[in-house]
Amino acid sequence: MNTLDALAALRAMTVLEELSSRAVTRAQLDALGVRDALLWEKLAFTYYGATRYKKLQQAAREAASELSLDAVIVIEKHLRSLLRGASVTVEELRVQLCGLRGTVAEIDRAAATQVRDLNRTVKDAASKAYGKRALRGGKNTDGHGMRTFTVTRPEREIAAMLSHLTPTASALRAADKGLSHEQAMADALYSHIMGSTGEATNQPLAPHVVMAVPDYAKVLRREGDDTVFGLTDGTTITGAELVAHEMATHGFVGIYDPVEGPVDLYRNQRSATFKQRMLLAAETILCPVPGCTTAADFCQVHHLEAWKEGGETNIKNMSMACKVHNARNDDDPDAPPRHGRLERHPGGVLHHPPDGGPPRANIHPIRKLSAMGLLNNA
Ligand SMILES: [Zn+2]
Repeated sequence: MNTLDALAALRAMTVLEELSSRAVTRAQLDALGVRDALLWEKLAFTYYGATRYKKLQQAAREAASELSLDAVIVIEKHLRSLLRGASVTVEELRVQLCGLRGTVAEIDRAAATQVRDLNRTVKDAASKAYGKRALRGGKNTDGHGMRTFTVTRPEREIAAMLSHLTPTASALRAADKGLSHEQAMADALYSHIMGSTGEATNQPLAPHVVMAVPDYAKVLRREGDDTVFGLTDGTTITGAELVAHEMATHGFVGIYDPVEGPVDLYRNQRSATFKQRMLLAAETILCPVPGCTTAADFCQVHHLEAWKEGGETNIKNMSMACKVHNARNDDDPDAPPRHGRLERHPGGVLHHPPDGGPPRANIHPIRKLSAMGLLNNA
């Protein structure tokens, strides 16, 4: 089989039917490095899953029999833009767009034109489109240490926002001839949002020092709000004393056991909840679910063994997890798996996938700088 044969075999409907019948699974595609595996799985449901519109679904499949996956992905992108109240339904338009032929770029343009024409006829189109407003991105750092977000709002509002920034940008360019228009607009946006100080935050940074349980100490027990360590000389020492003994620095000192995870955090009087959050956030940096980029500061405290299953609110039974993954976690270990569950393992919290495959870590590079990343790579 040469490359052309292989690509010809990858007709969208062939692949989606196999995914739908589970002759091929998303896990297998993931393992082969298929970037769009999740998307394909969703498409398999659209084209082969349960629906009230059986006839239209079948008509779409027949119309799309020659199309590549890329073409179908482009068609679905435009279908999502169709406003409710248009003269055709999404299911009807899908059949029409699946009948398009040509290169993917040609199908892309033709589908965009059809959807725009249909949306123009929708009464109250502007207020319906308003639901699409969004601020996206801003979570991933590129090779230059920069981040990007995009804002979607009605065209008039975006134009008004930009014209509001233009006088500031012009003043900045007048003062610094080396500034490009894009740079000046970015500076103007930043100063408008952050105020005249231009400071990113008024909160001073408090360093969180990661300290491994030293070889000569073993966690013995909790005593009040402190941890008691047994020393190899047969004596005991509290966590506060241990930190004073080992460290002569300021900020938050978190003690982590490379196997057990967070142990305790030291710094004057703070609530246990605050301590737990600080320890767990530093432990993981990001939500521990593979692929998730939500920072721990925006996460919730998650009980690894659910509270209603008898899980305790102690540090070993907790992890940070984003709102989505906290909600989706399969809390009942005996119920049929749906989204998988988080469990604590030696070295950190791992995600057990619903298909029973091996547990996986979130391998986002920034997690090398998490407390457990630092300890395990030390
Ligand atoms: Zn997450």
